[in-house]
Amino acid sequence: IVAREWHKENSVIDIKGIKLGGNTIQVIGGPCSVETQQQMDESAKFVKAAGCRLMRGGAFKPRTSPYSFQGKGVEGLEMFRKAADAQGLPIVTELMDVRMLDTFLEWDVDVIQIGTRNMQNFDLLKEVGHTNKPVILKRGMSATVSEWLMAAEYIAAGGNHNIIFCERGVRSFETYYRNMLDVTAIPVLKKETHLPVIVDPSHAGGKAWMVPALSRAAIAAGADGLLVEMHPKPCEAWCDADQALNPDELKSLMIELKGIAQVL
Ligand code: PEP
Ligand code: MN
Repeated sequence: IVAREWHKENSVIDIKGIKLGGNTIQVIGGPCSVETQQQMDESAKFVKAAGCRLMRGGAFKPRTSPYSFQGKGVEGLEMFRKAADAQGLPIVTELMDVRMLDTFLEWDVDVIQIGTRNMQNFDLLKEVGHTNKPVILKRGMSATVSEWLMAAEYIAAGGNHNIIFCERGVRSFETYYRNMLDVTAIPVLKKETHLPVIVDPSHAGGKAWMVPALSRAAIAAGADGLLVEMHPKPCEAWCDADQALNPDELKSLMIELKGIAQVL
């Protein structure tokens, strides 16, 4: 279903009237994690002011250590919904556990994010495949393109064809940066599937200063959008502080991208 062989034209995903895919670039901005109502309200204002039309934020966080902040949970969904609704921004948030799916539907999460660690959580994929919610499927950190395409097929097989691929860097031998952005995967995916492909430059580089260069590379290579982390005060972020853009940096990035592509 996801193969271009079966559907020649590029598919465009509709997210509350906002189009992802086609001839424009969508930038999804927001913090790594939902922290407080104030942090979300401020983030939403800055995301909107920068020109982004969709907002990200994790209420359930897949942390390496069980002792690290795990996310605000359902309370976080509530804070996110409130902050984003005030700015008219659809929300993108990660679903880690199939038992939370009904809650996500109750809070009307606009885009369900499947994280890198769950790309091959087949039961989770099957369940989101039975909803009609757009899904961002992040690439497993060591997944091949074929495995990634097959993971998407699990979602599509259930009837949900609203899938967006997200390249977020893969594991490599290099330690200077967090993950190695696989730019090559972008034209490969665009050839193999009709579905949109976006890039997360934040988790790839792991440092805010790398985000503009990786964003430009992604768009030049044919990506349909970006998933970018920002924070009203990056040094105070509870998670992924090093890679968060501050509001001015997000604004500059959007201005720069508008100069090279049709950014909506
Ligand atoms: C995220 O986007 O918040 C995240 C945890 O990313 P990844 O699954 O790519 O590590
Ligand atoms: Mn993060």
